Amino acid sequence: MPCCGGKAPKEAANTDPFFFTDTPATKTIKLFRVDEISPDTRRLRFALPHKSMKLGLPVGGHFLLNFPNPGYVPGLDENGLDPKTGKCPQWNEQEDIEADCLVLTRPYTPVSGDELPGFVDLVVKIYEKSPQKGFPDGGHAGQWIKKALAKAGQTVEVDGPYGKIRWINKSEGGDQYFQIGSPEYGGLEHRPEHVLLIAGGSGITPCFRMLKECLAVEGTTTFSLVYSNRTEADILLKSEIEALAAANPARLKVHFTLTGEGASATGCSGENVSSSTGRISAEMVGKVVSGEVKGVLTLLCGPTGMQRAARNTVKELGGEHVYEF
Ligand SMILES: Cc1cc2nc3c(=O)[nH]c(=O)nc-3n(C[C@H](O)[C@H](O)[C@H](O)COP(=O)(O)OP(=O)(O)OC[C@H]3O[C@@H](n4cnc5c(N)ncnc54)[C@H](O)[C@@H]3O)c2cc1C
Repeated sequence: MPCCGGKAPKEAANTDPFFFTDTPATKTIKLFRVDEISPDTRRLRFALPHKSMKLGLPVGGHFLLNFPNPGYVPGLDENGLDPKTGKCPQWNEQEDIEADCLVLTRPYTPVSGDELPGFVDLVVKIYEKSPQKGFPDGGHAGQWIKKALAKAGQTVEVDGPYGKIRWINKSEGGDQYFQIGSPEYGGLEHRPEHVLLIAGGSGITPCFRMLKECLAVEGTTTFSLVYSNRTEADILLKSEIEALAAANPARLKVHFTLTGEGASATGCSGENVSSSTGRISAEMVGKVVSGEVKGVLTLLCGPTGMQRAARNTVKELGGEHVYEF
């Protein structure tokens, strides 16, 4: 979801109980620590303005990270062309439609929530420069994060909350439901018996937070996760996902699949955890969803092509409620 940023920051006051409120706003947070959890993955912990402040980000929601565009080219004409060459600047050997944006934004879903007062944790995949794979420049955000967020102390600008999918857990009366779209604009409420989450690569983070929060409270809804990656090393939050599965054998089933050439099924563990190779298929959905797919709520997050294919697979199985984070 690339776009240019540009709003003036509105800071949270030191006494506010929640960092995010219902009204989206731009604010700053300071990097507290960085852990390299694999060569291309970082866990970034940011400090909220005060120690007892809670994040306040709805479950299912995300925020935008604003950062200086590492591929900014000044002086482009109104068609985005460089007047000197008459050409559009390139990024990863493609026309870079963001080249005239001084500031870029990317959405991120933290893996922590209100249970971690004073902080927010992001798990971020860094797309490295890889000329041999056709990506000589890597990811815009990833390249900036790698350099600018290498050690604690840096302040970053975030904007939120955003997201059309929310899990609502009313403490009074125990009502739990999924809200798709804003109620003011005809949003829907779903109370499904089963929720199927389908994720690819870093698209796992909204799915992971949803599972973590929903399974932390008693409820009758069951869940399944189909998670696709190129290689085993690309799987984000693998041990955390396995731990969730182990702690919730009656409510969660997980299936990992690897799509890289020559990949073999992951060494995963657990009675409710399985794995295979190849693109997401009807057979994989059948492994984790028992019974009819018709009433299942399916939520997707991953690369566009994967989302399109997964949506088609679920629709062919009769799924009627399929949404993207
Ligand atoms: C709701 C939502 C929540 C998200 N939450 C998270 C999160 O918590 N953590 C997270 O890491 N991401 C998350 N993302 C993805 C994130 O927003 C960015 O798209 C991602 O970080 C890539 O941004 P970039 O600027 O680095 O890459 P871009 O410059 O936008 O590159 C675009 C694409 O090019 C490809 N690419 C670039 N370099 C390479 C390479 N070397 N090898 C292979 N492919 C390459 C990748 O497919 C990449 O996505 C989320 C997305 C959504 C929609």
